[in-house]
Amino acid sequence: MKILEIREKTVPLNSAISNAYINFSQMTASIVSIVTDQYIDGEQIIGFGFNSNGRYGQGSLMRERLFPRIYDLSEGDYQSDNLDNIDPFKLWNAMLTNEKPGGHGERAVAVGTIDMAIWDLVSKIAGKPLWKYLSEKFNKGNYDKSVFVYAAGGYYQPDKEVDGLIEEIQSYIDLGFSVVKIKVGGGDVNIDIKRIEAALNLLGSGKKLAIDANGRFNHEQAVTFAEIIEPYKLRWYEEPGDPLDFDLMSTVAKNYYEPLATGENLFSLQDATNLIRYGGLRPDKDILQFDPALSYGLVEFLRIIQMLESSGWSRKACIPHGGHLMALNIAAGLGLGGNESYPGVFEPFGGFFDGAKVEGEIVKLHDMPGIGFEGKSDLINLLRTSLK
Ligand SMILES: [Mg+2]
Repeated sequence: MKILEIREKTVPLNSAISNAYINFSQMTASIVSIVTDQYIDGEQIIGFGFNSNGRYGQGSLMRERLFPRIYDLSEGDYQSDNLDNIDPFKLWNAMLTNEKPGGHGERAVAVGTIDMAIWDLVSKIAGKPLWKYLSEKFNKGNYDKSVFVYAAGGYYQPDKEVDGLIEEIQSYIDLGFSVVKIKVGGGDVNIDIKRIEAALNLLGSGKKLAIDANGRFNHEQAVTFAEIIEPYKLRWYEEPGDPLDFDLMSTVAKNYYEPLATGENLFSLQDATNLIRYGGLRPDKDILQFDPALSYGLVEFLRIIQMLESSGWSRKACIPHGGHLMALNIAAGLGLGGNESYPGVFEPFGGFFDGAKVEGEIVKLHDMPGIGFEGKSDLINLLRTSLK
């Protein structure tokens, strides 16, 4: 069972959308494939991965440091103990050889991208969907056959007024979503309040609307905004301030009764641990959004789950960022609280397999071996044609 070749390419993921912090006009993503000497039904087994949206392509880091460390291994170095598969933990350890702790940034994204391709590979070799493989290996055979999903959108776009936002939310409702998230913090607070009220008017309840400030506010702005929105009883208030400012988060938590959410920009077990230690978050209501594809992959995410459970948190508090198939498999197989979705945005990486239907708040799973990319035609076509 040998890894023959690892391929990568940076592809554009550009779009006219903006959140409170960045626009996506120059955005890119890395795609990766790992080619093996294994065949099933005459077809060579290849694992695919990509980096989750919001961080740029990681090609040079992968080519210069991570791929050579895998190529340096012999076959026996990465085989599972019973020799029937590849061991993601062994490959992970090899990728992180001679890397100092801390300063996680882009390195965590590069490792997370390769880690995705490794888990795709491993579950294909096992002949199982990744969610099933994970449930058997790490969740005592338990899994959720349907997963809570919400539509993340409501970006700022040139010439998009409140009417445009309402049209967008209506399109999500038409697709079957009942919970929607919109951006705030992009400028004038009064405009944000108009956006929130218009969205609430359409959705009918605060529990169906989440808002995301993408880390834009300072302490004072974050608390003031919390006071303004508290009466709406929203589903959650996401990333009010800088993701690494745990004191700010703790201050907001002291001054805001309704649920908070954060974690998509924390890229390591240590950062996640610090959030739990110092962020003042409340295990009975707050949401954690660590995105395995941006933060050293599923290998590190499994350690994060362990840390959470030994700190009095439930894994159900995790609703990963990313809106991709990898996070859907993880949510189902490990029994998390749900998954994000970006209908029509970040295509072809966003969204689930062809024909996947959202009914109410739930999406059902696939039965294909691996992560399920082969069931999403636009994505598998891009991966196959770009990584020849
Ligand atoms: Mg967010």
